[in-house]
Amino acid sequence: MSEKALENEQLFAGIGVSNGTAYGKVFVVAHTSAQIPEYNVSDSQIDGEIKRFEQALMKTRTDIVSLKEELAQKVGEKESSIFDAHLLVLEDVAIISETYSNLQDTKRNIEICYIEVVNRFLQAFEEIDDPFMRERIADIRDVSRRMINNLMGHEEKSSLNLGEPAILASKDFTPSDFAFVDKTKVLGIITEKGSLTSHTAILARSLRVPCIVGINIEETNLKSGDVILIDGYKGNLFVNPSGDTLKKYTEIANIRREIERIFDSSLPYPSETTDFHKVSLEFNIGSASDIKEGSMSYSDGIGLFRTEALFIDKGNFMDEDSQFEAYKAAVIKAEGKPVTIRTLDLGGDKTLAFKNEFGHEENPFMGYRAIRFCLDRVDIFTAQLKAILRAGVYGKVRILYPMISGINELVRANSVLEQAKLALKNEGIEYSSDIEIGTMIEVPSAAMIIDLIAKHCDFISIGTNDLIQYLLAVDRVNDHVAHLYNPANPAVIRMLDKIVSEGKKANLKVSVCGEIAADPIFAMLLIGMGVDSLSMASGALSEIKFMLRKASFEELRKLRNDALSQNCSRDILTILRRFRNAKMKEFIQI
Ligand code: PEP
Ligand code: MG
Repeated sequence: MSEKALENEQLFAGIGVSNGTAYGKVFVVAHTSAQIPEYNVSDSQIDGEIKRFEQALMKTRTDIVSLKEELAQKVGEKESSIFDAHLLVLEDVAIISETYSNLQDTKRNIEICYIEVVNRFLQAFEEIDDPFMRERIADIRDVSRRMINNLMGHEEKSSLNLGEPAILASKDFTPSDFAFVDKTKVLGIITEKGSLTSHTAILARSLRVPCIVGINIEETNLKSGDVILIDGYKGNLFVNPSGDTLKKYTEIANIRREIERIFDSSLPYPSETTDFHKVSLEFNIGSASDIKEGSMSYSDGIGLFRTEALFIDKGNFMDEDSQFEAYKAAVIKAEGKPVTIRTLDLGGDKTLAFKNEFGHEENPFMGYRAIRFCLDRVDIFTAQLKAILRAGVYGKVRILYPMISGINELVRANSVLEQAKLALKNEGIEYSSDIEIGTMIEVPSAAMIIDLIAKHCDFISIGTNDLIQYLLAVDRVNDHVAHLYNPANPAVIRMLDKIVSEGKKANLKVSVCGEIAADPIFAMLLIGMGVDSLSMASGALSEIKFMLRKASFEELRKLRNDALSQNCSRDILTILRRFRNAKMKEFIQI
């Protein structure tokens, strides 16, 4: 941050969802649904429009071919063949000739002539109810988006070539977009859509890069190459930060580093309160590479392995053997500590980049998602379960089912698991039969029947990210209602306490793997409620361990009682913050 100050500082306020600060050049990613201009062209401009169209066709062809080659190298020839279908769509004679006729007849710019023809084709295909046709619709949409971006000179999201490290700015940066960037070059992320629990924010935290949501990118007038500073703690974006701002942030960064050093000092010690109440502190990961060298010495295990991240990165469904290798790698890196592998939770804001398996859904978070998808696509589910069972041979593995909303789903999932075991036995492949089964409690209907769920599994893991959105009816990725997404809402606190006590009554181990487990004020409350383990992004663990080791269980139990007796979220937050601030004051003097 020692670079010379730049003139004309502008400040934009958003919501910080991943801590840290970043200073550098911004890379603005094109919006997915570009506004297509419409204007008339004269007879003499028609040839120019055709030339523009041909150039865009050529550029789009080159883009698709290089994406195909890249994917063939990263994933395999078979998967990359999706782009052959894209080339066929791009060069479809009917679409091209109808675009030219439209141009001659209506004398308007080529973008509008092209998109009208494409939309006519899409409409005709949409009327045919056939899975093959649905795939073709996705291909046409993808190719036409590329064409329009090239015609309008926009950078295309799926060929992000950052060149040098940069802060990404996008109206909507989704988890699948991470597949297209070199993650080592991402300094930070600013996006309009999203919230603390959107998967983009979760990924940013696991990459340990700052992230701000709720910034209207159009209003900022940002252009690729502009110099910015982002503050992921407060949610501030500074365009052309002044010398004073840079100086202030350098000082703040130094203080934060010192505080982190103090938190880190508790890492080598057991995860327990001052009166020896043990709580397992575990990591959330998306792949084996998230387990950093040496980090398992201070973590008690992997409390959540979000397996869909692997699929999103590869852009396609993985076969059993590739999954087995991915899970085995994590189990080996966990050095004998338990690894909780959650079965596929695709859907919601996590869809595959290349496969339009989910089609368009009005309410994706309440739709064809997670266990619903897996019980429908038993072939995909079985391959995953077999891979997990096989990885169990290399360490201690647990299976966790996402988005269970009733007993029926849990029973069916267990029966697919039994079938998977049988299949492995018949194939003579080694697997572990000593695997604990867990249920994610993230749908309110599941929270109401913990006693029944307990009959079919060994542990529960509370997914607060979803539980809060379903309980409060607040979309977790909609920035317009982000202020209503409130973990301190008394309804949330009561429901959490009820789940924990019912779980304990039924002799279940109770874990929390949603984002509130990583928030020091809520983590202490959850421990006071009696949870056995908290699972979080690795970067959050040191502060939670520090706080845990400075508190007694008796104090935390009192904190829980106090919080439960409040009438409103503001008072609950005050109590929780006061507790944390007092501990910080007592033990950290800077
Ligand atoms: C949750 O819902 O809290 C959770 C951990 O799952 P995800 O964030 O992947 O939906
Ligand atoms: Mg969830």
